[in-house]
Amino acid sequence: MSLNFGKSLQMLVAQPIPIQHLSHPLLSEKVIRLAVLRLDKVHSVVSGNKFFKLKHNLEEAKTLGKKTILTFGGAFSNHIHATAAAAHAEDLQCIGIIRGEDADLANPTLAYARKMGMKLHFVDRESYRNKNSPQFQEKLRILFDDFYLIPEGGTNELAIAGTKEILDESHSNYTHVAVSIGTGGTFSGLIASLQPQQTLIGCSSLKGEFIRKEMANLFSKYNIHSSGKWEIQTDYHFGGYGKHKPELICFMHWFYSEFHIPLDPIYTGKMAFGIWDLIEKNHFPKGSSILMIHTGGLQGNAGFFKQTGIDLPIL
Ligand SMILES: *Cc1c(COP(=O)(O)O)cnc(C)c1O
Repeated sequence: MSLNFGKSLQMLVAQPIPIQHLSHPLLSEKVIRLAVLRLDKVHSVVSGNKFFKLKHNLEEAKTLGKKTILTFGGAFSNHIHATAAAAHAEDLQCIGIIRGEDADLANPTLAYARKMGMKLHFVDRESYRNKNSPQFQEKLRILFDDFYLIPEGGTNELAIAGTKEILDESHSNYTHVAVSIGTGGTFSGLIASLQPQQTLIGCSSLKGEFIRKEMANLFSKYNIHSSGKWEIQTDYHFGGYGKHKPELICFMHWFYSEFHIPLDPIYTGKMAFGIWDLIEKNHFPKGSSILMIHTGGLQGNAGFFKQTGIDLPIL
């Protein structure tokens, strides 16, 4: 894997990315091997899949001579957190357009982003929805002058180029790879890097079948082809994006007590719940070897506690 990120970020990269093998009576009974690729540990400040989505974008920004990164996100966004950290480490200025004028400046995500030097600009929900309109973009150009724009959630061509680097030859012995889906940038990169004998399972964190169409659009927009097979699971959203249920929280605590792996309630918790459920339901043939991708997101657990009072395991 080539991680020729800027020098300051490069120094902090964990290579190879740790893989944790899980053992449990259910796995023996079903004759399944299950392991977790700990992208949450890939980098000391830029966690998870966001590291891969950002790296080529920051390189490109520098190549273009841009001094400022501008991006978008909600008040608890992993993408905002990671972009602030990465820009700081790469000596780039950074602006975060945050959804909601009522967003809490003191929440752990935004407090961290500010500490990393991100300038926060709050917009009302209506304007935020129209953030991709030419009018809004023009306004940003007037307000902030010249910047390198990274879209909400960070998915663009260079992000997908980055997520193509998550898997390499060392993972070719896994028959299945599992990942959560938000915007699908990570799913797309993984799909493109599959081996013919592998199947990728994407667990959508969003409610609805629309995600299938959205992924198809993404594949055609970015010309994504796969040598392997893939499927999308839409039954593990727990009410929708950002929603949760006691069953999910309970699973996350159980998972931590069994395997000492903390999960987040937005993405990895739902994905791990889904994969465990599919194992119980004999979705995987005997002898399968599954690699779950831990995409990070643990920074959000503190904010989740602040909002809900529900305590979750952290590292
Ligand atoms: C952003 C994020 C995802 C979703 O990634 P996409 O590329 O948008 O599908 C999954 N897991 C975590 C922890 C994330 O922060």
